[in-house]
Amino acid sequence: MSRLLSVVVSVYNEEQALPLFYEKTVPVLEGLARTGDGSPSGDWDYELLFVNDGSTDGSMEILAGFAEKNPKVRVLGFSRNFGHEAAMIAGIDYATGDGIVCMDADLQHPPECLPEIVKRLGEGYGVISMVRTKNPSAGLVKNITSAGFYALINVLSDVRFEPNASDFFAISAKAAKVLRKNYREKVRFLRGYVQNLGFRKTTIEYEAHDRVAGHSKYSIRKLFLFSVHTILCFSNLPLKLGMFAGIFAALLGVAVMVYTLCTRQGAPSGYATIVILNCFMFAILFVIVGIIGEYIAILFSELKDRPIYIVDVEKNIAQDDTRGKKVSF
Ligand code: UDP
Ligand code: MG
Repeated sequence: MSRLLSVVVSVYNEEQALPLFYEKTVPVLEGLARTGDGSPSGDWDYELLFVNDGSTDGSMEILAGFAEKNPKVRVLGFSRNFGHEAAMIAGIDYATGDGIVCMDADLQHPPECLPEIVKRLGEGYGVISMVRTKNPSAGLVKNITSAGFYALINVLSDVRFEPNASDFFAISAKAAKVLRKNYREKVRFLRGYVQNLGFRKTTIEYEAHDRVAGHSKYSIRKLFLFSVHTILCFSNLPLKLGMFAGIFAALLGVAVMVYTLCTRQGAPSGYATIVILNCFMFAILFVIVGIIGEYIAILFSELKDRPIYIVDVEKNIAQDDTRGKKVSF
């Protein structure tokens, strides 16, 4: 019996990249279907699930064209831009396959890796992380900040993050079911969740290519916000900074008191010292209040429970689908 591979592709203003992506990926997927050699990697059928994340260019028309000529292409169109992660989550929600691969539409994630991925899925791996060995388009700044970010999050959080893991990963239907049911946070880091689901894990190395066309949708500002949210989501340590600061301030107070008593200066001296200390203490206080504010903002958005994404258009999506119902624990 053939198994089904769902390939989830998030699309945001990729009209130039999409035809190239389709041209390169579909033959690889057709190749999987033809293997049929009885080996663990044989006999995989596919569905290609594009999630159009509120593109404002001609991406939707191009995707509709793919869906018309190829019944294995499914398209979800969001009502507006919800972000890359929301697109991947929607894709995982709608995927019906025994294995699900998430990849970008810009061919930075080479489709040539798909045969190796289905081989590992066939061997029973639940989570396959694709690890970049080279990222030419990222540039020095992005590479250094990315390495710094992973080092920091690994120190702060008690879960372990694979440095250089990308949004290119594959999961089994069982792992997908857990994501669908239990990981519905509004402020989240999907890659982190995937790496910490458990199951049998493996990694495959790949060389990231340059984006084929168009430009990156992640600005430095977006990446910074994303990193802050991730740290807040996966670690309570920043919340404890207040305690450390309190202990530090108390010790400083004792030290100043002892110094004053010992030197018998009598009336306090040093206007500048007082102003500097005041500013310093208030700075610590405000930063901590700010950190608590960030956590409250996250709590607030979870409490409001707004949808992660809103689907407007569906193409080739079966109405009586078996979404997420295939696996039972
Ligand atoms: N993307 C998306 N929604 C967004 C931003 C990006 O679906 O709001 C898609 C984009 O079309 C691409 C993938 O996510 O397929 C990765 O984005 P990009 O290539 O811009 O990021 P980079 O590879 O530069 O980190
Ligand atoms: Mg890219």
